[in-house]
Amino acid sequence: MTSPDASISRMIAISSGKGGVGKSTVASNIAVAMAEAGLAVGVVDADIYGPSIPGMLGIAGGKPSMTPEGKVIPAEAHGIKVISMAMLSDDDKPAILRGPMVTKYLQMFVRQVDWGALDVLLLDLPPGTGDIQLTLAQAFPLSGAVVVSTPQDVSLKIARRGLRMMEQVNVPILGVIENMSGFTCPSCGTVTHIFHQGGGETIAAELGVDFLGRIPLDPAVVDAGDDGAPLVRIAPSSPAAQAYRQIADRLAQSAEAVAGIVTPFAWTVTDGTGKPDPAASAPDGPPDRLAALDHDSVGLHLRWANGETQTLSDRDLRLACRCAKCRDEVTGAPLLDPATVPLDIRLTRIWSVGNYALGMAFTDGHDTGIYTFDHLQSMETAEFEDV
Ligand code: ADP
Repeated sequence: MTSPDASISRMIAISSGKGGVGKSTVASNIAVAMAEAGLAVGVVDADIYGPSIPGMLGIAGGKPSMTPEGKVIPAEAHGIKVISMAMLSDDDKPAILRGPMVTKYLQMFVRQVDWGALDVLLLDLPPGTGDIQLTLAQAFPLSGAVVVSTPQDVSLKIARRGLRMMEQVNVPILGVIENMSGFTCPSCGTVTHIFHQGGGETIAAELGVDFLGRIPLDPAVVDAGDDGAPLVRIAPSSPAAQAYRQIADRLAQSAEAVAGIVTPFAWTVTDGTGKPDPAASAPDGPPDRLAALDHDSVGLHLRWANGETQTLSDRDLRLACRCAKCRDEVTGAPLLDPATVPLDIRLTRIWSVGNYALGMAFTDGHDTGIYTFDHLQSMETAEFEDV
């Protein structure tokens, strides 16, 4: 398994229930606003149906260059680093890519790209809440996701579907952004609400997530995008640019407040390299988020975001493996004979799998087990823990 790039602090997905709501425009303006606020920002344009971010930022198409080590060099514009499906070679036109290929390319975009140290990596997801979006959300250790909608697009149904999709893979929704909310008069700057106002706020309230803000409908946004320069750059004092900046600030803060280990890690237990930093407990956070983990001669110590702790012995973990080699996929019957598992078996490596599971390797060479947080929490704590 490729180990994730530990130099990216947090990844945030920008999602929308449907296309054309301004998701990519929001992503590029927010990215530039975050960079202007001093953060190191990268953007992965994962919108396979219409990769538009390079155009909006004035980045020429064509294949990206490679470092001598074989890493892809991201394009740079307006202080942010960008990699896009639009940069794939002609033979790999995004439109013909299907789910597994898309995931493969995007994992490559994140892991084999010479990002350097990043504070935030924004992932512009394709619109919708289908399989491709789910696969993408699952493929990355996302700190959270943002939903962009318009006042007309007050379909709670779509927003709920998006929320449920993210919940399945343990990705918190950091908030809702309402775009094209009211019209900014080009001559006087007054914002008139053409459509009824507050749709985004209602959705946020119904879903129990934050409302991050509203961006007015402004013809200058379209011109800016067409000219390859985001509005926050060319008209920084316009109401829309101010809205982007406020949202970028809020988002940067809410992503920081997410409980649990949100940084992808690949920890070699045997020599201690790559051990994740413990995160603060957050009693209000989702209970199935991992806040800290440690390992010693007793076993693996887990602390969850709600403060609960668990100790699981290395051998119990090996015996609990649910991979296809250890458990019949159809009947669930165990295939692993406990008698073949040495009493002194030890964990050698542990790595994060998205936000919902840990991968583990053992001294018997077995490394195909994925332990979901649910599964780990259902395991009995080692009996000798209190001894
Ligand atoms: P999506 O990524 O959701 O498909 P885009 O970001 O490509 O949507 O935006 C769709 C169109 O709407 C673009 O032409 C863009 O310039 C325009 N647009 C986006 N946000 C605004 C806004 N606040 N005011 C006016 N036009 C906007």
